[in-house]
Amino acid sequence: MSLSPNDLDLDMSELEGRALTCDPSCGLCCLCQPEILPHEVEWFRSNHPRRIVTLDQPHRHVAVALKNGQGPCSFLNSTRRCEIYPHRPHHCRQFPLHLYVGKRVQAELDLSCRGVWYGGTEDVLVEGGKLVQDNLDTLRHTLMESRAIYQEFEANCREVGIYRPDASLRQEVEQRVERFSELPYLAHVLDLSGEDDEMTLPNGSCPRYDMNELERSAMETGMESLDAEDAFSAPIYCDPKGRWNLFLVRGDLIKWVILNDDGGLTTLGDIDPSKVKLLVPEGEGKGIFWSYLRTLNRRDSVMGYAYFLADYYGYEDFLANTYYGVIATSALDLLWRSSLIAYLCGGKLDRAGMIEGIISYDMDRLDAPTIGAFI
Ligand code: SF4
Ligand code: SF4
Repeated sequence: MSLSPNDLDLDMSELEGRALTCDPSCGLCCLCQPEILPHEVEWFRSNHPRRIVTLDQPHRHVAVALKNGQGPCSFLNSTRRCEIYPHRPHHCRQFPLHLYVGKRVQAELDLSCRGVWYGGTEDVLVEGGKLVQDNLDTLRHTLMESRAIYQEFEANCREVGIYRPDASLRQEVEQRVERFSELPYLAHVLDLSGEDDEMTLPNGSCPRYDMNELERSAMETGMESLDAEDAFSAPIYCDPKGRWNLFLVRGDLIKWVILNDDGGLTTLGDIDPSKVKLLVPEGEGKGIFWSYLRTLNRRDSVMGYAYFLADYYGYEDFLANTYYGVIATSALDLLWRSSLIAYLCGGKLDRAGMIEGIISYDMDRLDAPTIGAFI
C-alpha cells in the first residue's frame, strides 16, 4: 500500500494563531543534545570533527558534543548564540515544532519555549507547513508503520472489552475541562480511575476528600516526574532571567541547582518539598490552565501515552480510566510544578505564574513514552 501526500490526514490545529520570537537569552533548546542526521554528518566530520560524538541510546546515532558532557551544546557561545547557525542540524531548525505520527500526522508546539508566549513575529503555522513538506517521505513511511501498530492496539483492546473511541474520551474531557482546576474534582477523578469498573467523568458535586492526602499525592507525583539519574537527564526550567534551573531529587529533598553556560553546576540549596503548598490557578491563570488542558486533550501523543500505559499494564484497565487518569495526573503534576516555582519566587498561579509552570512542564510532557513516533 502506498500513500499520497493527502493521506497524511494532517492536523495542524495546535499551531493556529501562535507566533514565535526567539528570546536569545533563553537557550533552552540548545540544552537538548541535537542529533546529527546521516546527510548532515559529513559537514560536521569535515569542519568540526572534535565536536561530535557517537551515542548508543535511544538508537546508535551521531550527536553534537555538550560542554562538560552535561551542559549546553558546545556550539552555544558565551552570549548564547549559535556559532554554526547556518549549518545547525535539522533537530535545531525544527524546534519548537514536533511532528507526531500516530493514526494521522499532527503538529505539536513545545510550550516550554518562552518565545511562543509573549507575542511573536514568526507564524508557526507557516513553519509547520514547511516542516511537513521537507519530511513528506519520512512521514508517509512512518505513518504506514504507525497505523499498523494502532490497529493492532485497538484490536487488542476490543478483544478484552476495554476499548472506547478516542473522540468520545476527548469529548468528555472537553465538556468538563474547567472542573479540572478544582482539587476535589481532581481527587475524585483519580480515585475513579483506579476502580475496576469503567468510569465516566463525574458531574455535580464531589465527595469530601482529605486535602493532606491530595497534597501528599501531588508531591509524590511531582517528585517522580522530576526524578532523574543525573543532571544531564534532569528536567530543566529556563526562568525569566534566563537561568537554567535543575531540581534534582535527592532522598526526601530537592537539590536546587543552576546549570552554568560552561556546563558546570552551582548549588543554590535544598528544598523541602513538603513545604510547597499546592496552589490552584486564579484570575487569568485559570484560562491559561484550561487552555493547556485542552491542548493536552487534543494531542495525539497524550492519547498515545495512555495507549502505551494500557499496553504496558497488559490491557487490564478500561481505556477510559487510563485516559482520564492521565489527564488528571498531568493536571496535578502541572499544578504541583507550578506551585514549586511560585514557592521559590514568592508568586501565585495567576496568568504569569501559570505560564511559568507550563514552560517548566511541557517539554517533559512531550517526552513521555507513546506508541506513535515523533520525527
Ligand atoms: S527555547 Fe524558544 S525562545 Fe528559547 S532559545 Fe529555543 S527557540 Fe528561542
Ligand atoms: S547547533 Fe546551534 S542551534 Fe543547535 S543546539 Fe547547538 S548551539 Fe543550539
